[in-house]
Amino acid sequence: MDLLKWMIRAHEENTKWQNSFSSFSPHPSMEVGDEAFAAVFHDFTKRLEKNYPFFHPSYAGHMVRPPHFAATIGYLATMLVNPNNHAFDGGPATVEMEREVVAQLSAMFGFDTSLGHLTTSGTIANLEALYVARELRPGQGVAFSEEAHFTHSRMCRVLGVEGHEVRADRHGRMDVEALEELLRTRQIGTVVLTAGTTGLGAVDPIHDVLALRERYDIRIHVDAAYGGFFTLLQGSGTAEALPPEPWQAISRCDSVVVDPHKHGLQPYGCGAVLFNDPAVDRFYDHDSPYTYCAPAEFNPGETSLECSRSGAAAAALWLTFQVLPPTPSGLGQVLGAGRRAALDWATRIRSSEALELYQEPELDIVTYFPAVRPASMRLVDETSARMLESGARDADPVFLSTLKVRSDALVSRHPGVTADAPEARIIRSVLMKPEFEDFVPRLHDRLEALAFSQTTFR
Ligand SMILES: *Cc1c(COP(=O)(O)O)cnc(C)c1O
Repeated sequence: MDLLKWMIRAHEENTKWQNSFSSFSPHPSMEVGDEAFAAVFHDFTKRLEKNYPFFHPSYAGHMVRPPHFAATIGYLATMLVNPNNHAFDGGPATVEMEREVVAQLSAMFGFDTSLGHLTTSGTIANLEALYVARELRPGQGVAFSEEAHFTHSRMCRVLGVEGHEVRADRHGRMDVEALEELLRTRQIGTVVLTAGTTGLGAVDPIHDVLALRERYDIRIHVDAAYGGFFTLLQGSGTAEALPPEPWQAISRCDSVVVDPHKHGLQPYGCGAVLFNDPAVDRFYDHDSPYTYCAPAEFNPGETSLECSRSGAAAAALWLTFQVLPPTPSGLGQVLGAGRRAALDWATRIRSSEALELYQEPELDIVTYFPAVRPASMRLVDETSARMLESGARDADPVFLSTLKVRSDALVSRHPGVTADAPEARIIRSVLMKPEFEDFVPRLHDRLEALAFSQTTFR
């Protein structure tokens, strides 16, 4: 698609719309000369060059990628208007779009109702879910796995509730036995399960924990900020298909969070929280003297802890979903390619002399480390870090990220590694661009070469 053509079209449409109102003169106080702007723009673009090439498949590090073309155009066209979805009168068009995308996200998870809204981030979305949980389970604690996102314990402190960390198993999933032990103490009101951990992409056994809900009277919140859209791959018959049980169980959980700004191809500023029971809207007071609300219809902004929210973010997601809906044949195809790339790379690493697979990729995150000799935590750590640095400096660069793992976690997966340090950095690559499917052979060769170029080797 021709981005420039549609940028121009977006601008033209905005101008046409503006011209449908009576004309007025722009105020001189905000005027900037073309020449003056050219100079600062030059410096500005120079500064932006400092970024890593998130768009390129040689960037195989964190969960970052540019938005989809439709998201860029949707955001840009709407930003020229700059609606605020805090209430209906802040952005009548984009509030409607928000309602529709929230309904699409709800349907994706199998929720019958669609009480939910977009948020600025997954962190805020999780905070809202935990806030509602606290109101419904006053005085009780929140349990999450040790592999859960770090912001859960932080938000528990913000909310004044006790956070309890639950051991993870050898796959990085919450250990259900350890959870049940904790539940028997009757201190826990809410369990947070992660559908796709940020570090390893592990999916907690949501279906198994759901079976404990009645016995221990717990609420279940699913943090699917990173992994949520992978629900589109549940099924069988293809290499990339995922076991459906945990994904199907989400439909019966109390709340779920997903980040369209991760796998939904959106620019930053787009998370979402969804509640199964629409009656939780009573925990959001929205009584303000300066907002007018269309009373008849539900307005997402009225059940949000945040006030101002970007209407452009809702519009970008709406436009993206028109061309790539959150269905197996739509966005599912994008995620499927990344998942196949992860499986392919894992196979290559398993038969590599230079690299060791840390664990099987469950979604599209591949974790691995150099097969150093002697195999020790300390040497794995140093070599991984050196590979990261020299990869980025190379003439044909690769950009990676590291993951800190504890010695018990590493040794339980790789008993041959000596635990001479409490933790080690390994390498982590999130393959969130479908282009990785073609690029993995090259990436693998680059990584092997990087590992071989380090001094100590088997
Ligand atoms: C990214 C992530 C978060 C935090 O979301 P932000 O949008 O970065 O605030 C929370 N939980 C999980 C599992 C994540 O991957």
